[in-house]
Amino acid sequence: MTPLARLIADRIREAGPITVADYMAECLLHPVHGYYTTRDPFGAKGDFTTAPEISQMFGELIGLALAQAWLDRGSPAPFTLAELGPGRGTLMADILRATRSVPGFHEAARVTLVEASPRLREVQAATLAAYSPNWIDHLEDLPEAPLFLIANEFLDALPIRQFQHGPQGWQERLIGLRDETLTFGLSAPLPQVPEAPAFRHAPEGALVEDNLAARHAVAEVSTRIARAGGMAYWIDYGGWRSQGDTLQALRQHRPDDPLAHPGEADLTAHVDFEPLAALAPAFAYDTQGAVLTRLGIDARAERLAQGLSGPALENHRSAHHRLTDPQEMGSLFKVLAITSAGAPPPPGFA
Ligand code: SAH
Repeated sequence: MTPLARLIADRIREAGPITVADYMAECLLHPVHGYYTTRDPFGAKGDFTTAPEISQMFGELIGLALAQAWLDRGSPAPFTLAELGPGRGTLMADILRATRSVPGFHEAARVTLVEASPRLREVQAATLAAYSPNWIDHLEDLPEAPLFLIANEFLDALPIRQFQHGPQGWQERLIGLRDETLTFGLSAPLPQVPEAPAFRHAPEGALVEDNLAARHAVAEVSTRIARAGGMAYWIDYGGWRSQGDTLQALRQHRPDDPLAHPGEADLTAHVDFEPLAALAPAFAYDTQGAVLTRLGIDARAERLAQGLSGPALENHRSAHHRLTDPQEMGSLFKVLAITSAGAPPPPGFA
């Protein structure tokens, strides 16, 4: 048992089974034993890797797309350049490097980061020292200004609840104890059908996930963009409509039982983009591969390849492939772009 598993078991013994959302929140962000609170999980020695860690091209293209959207909206100044869950700060560093030569962009940008992990805030502070970023705890604290925002693999880390439709009606999937071991179970039948949009299309017998924290985040950003203008890119793995039980754990680059190592494995869920897009004043949605291709990744990859040879060139080619190929991240990962109604279309979409 991990130290956090013991704490969770104590809590269940005292107060009864907990929701999947409570379990995820404890595992990822417990102040002492949480997965993100205690470690830098990225890279070969960590548990997983992400697009900005795979290649600088990802951040460069996103940076230029954000700058184009800013120009398309009349170069408002000042504006908030925000990232949610910036990890090591690599993506924001690449965004800022790529946009150095866009006149006025850096002068007008207030770099704002939303990060829950003190440990990762330190890493971000080191990576981004030259740009004096500002950290905020909650999206509600975003300044009142035009907002240009990126969130890569942020929504998948937010807690979800799970509901099971059975012969007795809807029941919530809970985590309790059996023989002193954490185990999944079901609540008593719920007095009424849960309110969340994901339930509208639920077939008989389905397990449905409600990404309530993600809905809250997207609603908050959408409200700001509707009021002050701007654009947001949400990039994550997932799809359009809830796909059953997608809770998964990753530990040292391998799938793990989500209940086996609380605090020591990354826990995520596929992002159901349908109820998120419904919160936007206007949106566009496509695969990561299609969006990166329209943003010009092939030409950028060729440019960078000219300066490389040997293993560095091979790495570069395989990174390009990983980001865009439908068998790799190209199709599994999606981009949801949010704009205000009647605004110019977001860069990277047809
Ligand atoms: N965007 C980065 C990191 C993705 S991992 C990349 O692409 O490499 C998820 C990030 O979100 C981590 O930085 C994690 O600490 C942060 N995070 C997770 N839950 C959060 C929450 N509720 N509030 C703020 N940040 C959170």
